[in-house]
Amino acid sequence: MDCRGINPELVDEDIPDLRAVEKILALKKERNAVILAHNYQSPEIQFVADYVGDTLSLSMIARDAEQPVIVFCGPDFMVETAKILAPHKTVLYANDKAKCPMAAMITPEELRTLKKNHPYAKVVGYINTTAECKCEMDVCCASANAVKIVRSLEAEEVIFVPDQNLGDYVRKMVPEKTILIWSGFCSVHNMIQKQDVLSLAQVHPAARIIVHPECKPEVVEMADMVLSTGGMITLAASSKDREFIVATELEVVNRMVEDNPDKEFYAVEKAYCRTQKKVKLENVLNTLETLSPAVSLARDVIDKARLPIERMLAAGRADLATAEVKHDT
Ligand code: SF4
Repeated sequence: MDCRGINPELVDEDIPDLRAVEKILALKKERNAVILAHNYQSPEIQFVADYVGDTLSLSMIARDAEQPVIVFCGPDFMVETAKILAPHKTVLYANDKAKCPMAAMITPEELRTLKKNHPYAKVVGYINTTAECKCEMDVCCASANAVKIVRSLEAEEVIFVPDQNLGDYVRKMVPEKTILIWSGFCSVHNMIQKQDVLSLAQVHPAARIIVHPECKPEVVEMADMVLSTGGMITLAASSKDREFIVATELEVVNRMVEDNPDKEFYAVEKAYCRTQKKVKLENVLNTLETLSPAVSLARDVIDKARLPIERMLAAGRADLATAEVKHDT
């Protein structure tokens, strides 16, 4: 699992508000809470978290956590997913204003219409969707296992929502199926242009290019490896290569730099998720003090949405196995 605990090597200047950190760490014990943080969260949030990881690994940790209280530092859909997997626990938003724009790009009504128009298709939905949309899916997926899940379905026709870029990548990797793709996108990955990667490659010609599959097809085409953020972090640590151009959210690249001081990583600087950075230390502290805002989902939504998520977890992680090496040197 690509999660980690508190990094003892962070020093005072990395943490702007040490008093808030101390209070959070004390309250976390008092409340018997576990703090989960996504890889795109800022360093000070990662510092106070018990686990830092990608969506798939954090979902598994939320499901299996021993603590009765989960504070989730991530966008709305991840926090809701934790509640669906752990309905008897108190699952708290670190900041309930951190709403992922992509998750709002398809509604349950739109998905029901798609299903009506394609009654034989199986519905695969990215985890970056609302709980109500998940109720309409056969199976959820994360970027770490989207290809494996679509490939494993018996249906010849698949509805894939909402990310068009991940859908395009899956379609290329699973050409034997007809894949109907919704037109959503992640604004952060979608803003990375081919020219951004080309410019870095001109300056660093020996660097391997690793790309998240939420990037545009023309960016994905340039990749040596297409990986989830968790897969990227694992690759950075295990690879014999020493230089990498990394097309994903900036915080992941910062983490790679921190974890691998003997290697060089070149980021697309504008790839910064404002949604994820809405979570601040003061939000985490307030959440622990007040035990709010808590996720509140109707019982029938939890029950319906759990099955596609559990199918996703059962598929496990498969990004390194399915990543495409396009021009290995
Ligand atoms: S990186 Fe993209 S998909 Fe993830 S939370 Fe930000 S906007 Fe949403």
